[in-house]
Amino acid sequence: MVSPESMADIAHLNGMRLPARGEHFLRIDSESALVDALSWAADRDVAITVIGEGSNTVMHPLVQGLVLEMAIPGLKVMDDDGTRLLVRAAAGENWHSFVLWAAERGFHGLENLALIPGTVGAAPVQNIGAYGFELASRVRSVYCYDRVLEEFKTLSAADCHFGYRDSIFKRTDGAHYIIVAVDFQLDRNAIPVVTYPELKQALGQGPYGAVEILEEVVNLRRAKLPDPANLPNVGSFFKNPAVPLPVAESMKVNWPLMPQYPSAGETVKLSAAWMIDYLGWRDATHEGAIGIYRDHALIMVNHGAGSAAGVLNLATKIMQSVENEFQIALEIEPSLIGLPAA
Ligand SMILES: Cc1cc2nc3c(=O)[nH]c(=O)nc-3n(C[C@H](O)[C@H](O)[C@H](O)COP(=O)(O)OP(=O)(O)OC[C@H]3O[C@@H](n4cnc5c(N)ncnc54)[C@H](O)[C@@H]3O)c2cc1C
Repeated sequence: MVSPESMADIAHLNGMRLPARGEHFLRIDSESALVDALSWAADRDVAITVIGEGSNTVMHPLVQGLVLEMAIPGLKVMDDDGTRLLVRAAAGENWHSFVLWAAERGFHGLENLALIPGTVGAAPVQNIGAYGFELASRVRSVYCYDRVLEEFKTLSAADCHFGYRDSIFKRTDGAHYIIVAVDFQLDRNAIPVVTYPELKQALGQGPYGAVEILEEVVNLRRAKLPDPANLPNVGSFFKNPAVPLPVAESMKVNWPLMPQYPSAGETVKLSAAWMIDYLGWRDATHEGAIGIYRDHALIMVNHGAGSAAGVLNLATKIMQSVENEFQIALEIEPSLIGLPAA
């Protein structure tokens, strides 16, 4: 087995580009390399941290233990009945490249999720979603390594307990799974999902198909979101809070301009961006270089010399101000690696 690198610079593997080192670090490009790395860590009793491209993480300057970058490649059609297909994508594939690869072959169903940064392997972790669509509706199963049973295992979509930016992989009962590949149910005749008002408006009267949707999603995202390569960020920093219907009704009375979105069950999602903007946080720089993006109040950005402590301080202040004004507890979306919860 290749020996892990000590005190490796992993700043390129966290979306905020904060200074970060891994005590031990390995890039994993095969299933056998993964098994060897886990056995190396077990022999030394060191903790494991799994990352993809780090686009949804905020890291401690020194991540203890063994950091594994999941870089296993591979895209394969497993089954094809002429209309519907089962496609396996390995964890290390770049998500947007996979969406393009599928769309170019006429394998449709993932267009609304185009240009989301990161890897295929991380996509089920928070059940990535955008423009009225969530990954879960196209996942047939997730192929993982079970660190407790020390074996590879297939989880059905139901086993993954997908929810809004949530899955078993984010919870303690699923933390022992490392995602190795994801099986997607795609469809040459997939019905486009254009429920999201902004997308609907951009597409106009049509006619439009999967290709036009993909192009429009890419245009909308490029116009709205800062490119992490130019202005480091992790996308939405807070989840939109879901509240019971009666709470949403009373919020409507007090803050009639606050957008509300339909949600699962008897709940309604409130716009975290609107609340943060209302409280004046947008386009302000705090804690040195850490600030809120001028065009989108849900996005925290690093203007250059930011630190993990600065990110957490600003997050705490925003959460407290939202709690004071709206009595709503915001929840941080990215994974905090080696850091205390804000
Ligand atoms: C500009 C921008 C826009 C974004 N837009 C969206 C959006 O519209 N919708 C959305 O849902 N998200 C969005 N995100 C968040 C991010 O793109 C997704 O969460 C993405 O899936 C992260 O992929 P990654 O490979 O970078 O994961 P990482 O950041 O490396 O990891 C994220 C989490 O997944 C875990 N993980 C990673 N790989 C594996 C694996 N193989 N097995 C088990 N656990 C693993 C990590 O431990 C960590 O907890 C955005 C981010 C940015 C920067």
